[in-house]
Amino acid sequence: MDLTYTPAQQAFRTEVRDWLGAHVPKEPLASFDTKEGFEAHREWEHVLNDGGYAMVPWPVEYGGRGANLLEWLIFEEEYYRAGAPKRVNQNGIFLLGPTIMEYGTPDQKARFLPKMAASEEVWAQGWSEPNAGSDMANIQATAIRDGDHYVINGQKTWASRGAYADWLFGMFRTDPESERHRGLTFVLVPLDLPGVTVRPIAQLDGLPGFAEVFLDDVRVPVENRLGDEGKGWQVAMATAGFERGLMLRSPARFQETARRLIDLYRDHAAEAAPGVREAVVDCWSQAEAYTLETYRTVSRLLAGAKIGSEASLNKIFWSELDLRMHEIALQILEERGQLLPGAPAAGDVGSWLDGYLFALSGPIYAGTNEIQRNIIAERILGMPRA
Ligand SMILES: Cc1cc2nc3c(=O)[nH]c(=O)nc-3n(C[C@H](O)[C@H](O)[C@H](O)COP(=O)(O)OP(=O)(O)OC[C@H]3O[C@@H](n4cnc5c(N)ncnc54)[C@H](O)[C@@H]3O)c2cc1C
Repeated sequence: MDLTYTPAQQAFRTEVRDWLGAHVPKEPLASFDTKEGFEAHREWEHVLNDGGYAMVPWPVEYGGRGANLLEWLIFEEEYYRAGAPKRVNQNGIFLLGPTIMEYGTPDQKARFLPKMAASEEVWAQGWSEPNAGSDMANIQATAIRDGDHYVINGQKTWASRGAYADWLFGMFRTDPESERHRGLTFVLVPLDLPGVTVRPIAQLDGLPGFAEVFLDDVRVPVENRLGDEGKGWQVAMATAGFERGLMLRSPARFQETARRLIDLYRDHAAEAAPGVREAVVDCWSQAEAYTLETYRTVSRLLAGAKIGSEASLNKIFWSELDLRMHEIALQILEERGQLLPGAPAAGDVGSWLDGYLFALSGPIYAGTNEIQRNIIAERILGMPRA
């Protein structure tokens, strides 16, 4: 791995920095878990897409600029440094997009990717069901073939952005006699079809960050299937690899939090408790370590490797680091750290509490850390099944 940037990569960084400097909204957008904030974030995605920055590693015809993953890392570093808005369509562009790139037909790529890049279609992920969270192979929702359609019945839950999203991707049982990982198929479902009921679920801050989705005789054309019938598990594992291992949580996010934590510590150094300084330094070091590890992963991917079980290591690492950084920030802020973002005396204090509430969920979403530890034990360390 060569850690020096080429002149072309440095020029790309400057170009991105200048563009973001000119275009990032001056005021933070409302939370994308409100209707108003969701639409404001969609509008921002249009701006990004118009600038050719929706997803830099995608081919130009799908809304990208044909850059490689190293340039994507550079873009992410600049994006977080600029304080740009969160990506409302992250399930689409970071998870489903790369999966369509790998498993989609040419027609599917042309149909879905450009609209995804522009966030004309915002995606929700429909994997979890009431009895299929960690035990994802227990999926019960069915998609039964009827001519050139699948007829879908069942319930999905915990779909992030589901309250306002346009489409859902999920796995459904196409063979009702099948068990566990077999007989599942990956299907793309428009959320405005007859028979779809979306019921928002409030998260800790009271905003509807999730939705339950009920599917009652929903007819979806067969061409909305991604990959082969009955092979949904294999396709979904590619999506999960992108989610845990690379795309969803780029190192820049944690480097930026570490930078903010250092600033916070500097402002409060005089009254900081013993040990806090060392804890802050440790967090910064870990954010840097995650960055180097990601550069190593990207180098391997560029050399033709695929993301494997090591994605589970990444997922545990970034989720625990994020939580730790927010815990230390709240420790530094003492009682003030408990103020909600809208409280009169909150200032920028509230954003740490907001971040902490979300960081609490890091060890749960994208597959719980207990499950990731099982994967590491069995597939990386070769230990017997518990
Ligand atoms: C912020 C957030 C966003 C999410 N977004 C989405 C989304 O967009 N789409 C979607 O489909 N889902 C989403 N989820 C759901 C998420 O994927 C599930 O919550 C997660 O997979 C755990 O499933 P569960 O909640 O059913 O818990 P359970 O599977 O019931 O697990 C409960 C506890 O038991 C532990 N456990 C279970 N089985 C084992 C085992 N074999 N060994 C050791 N420990 C075990 C778990 O680790 C956990 O601690 C989201 C969740 C959160 C918190």
